[in-house]
Amino acid sequence: MTEKKLVCVSCPMGCELTVVLEGKKVVSVSGNRCPRGEEYARSEAVEPRRVLMTLVRVEGGRDRVVSVKTDRPIPLRLFPKAMARVRELSVRAPVAIGTVIEENFLSTGANLVTTRPAR
Ligand code: SF4
Repeated sequence: MTEKKLVCVSCPMGCELTVVLEGKKVVSVSGNRCPRGEEYARSEAVEPRRVLMTLVRVEGGRDRVVSVKTDRPIPLRLFPKAMARVRELSVRAPVAIGTVIEENFLSTGANLVTTRPAR
C-alpha cells in the first residue's frame, strides 16, 4: 500500500487529504471535510485532470492568436500531445468568444473553445 498527500483545490478551504492506494486502486481517503474532497482525491490520485488553457493561431485578421481552453478537465498525461495538436490548429478571423475550435479534443469528450473574440 502507498500513501499520497494532496491538497484539495475544489474550494478555498484547501483541506489536506491523504489517499491510500493499493496499486492504482484507492483504498481510502481522509482529511476531506466534504464529499467533493473525496471525489477530487480519487480522481487526482489515479488520473490527474486539468483544464488546458493555451493560444491558437489566427489567420487573416489583426490578432495573431486567440486564447482557448478545454470546456472540461482532460487527463494531465495528454498535455504534451494536446500542445502538439494545438500547434497544428489555426482559425480564420473574425472569431467569436465561445467558438468551438475542435470538438471532442483528442477523444477526451472535451471541446476546445475560444475564451476571447479575435478580429
Ligand atoms: S474537501 Fe471540501 S471543504 Fe475541503 S477543500 Fe475540498 S471541497 Fe473544500
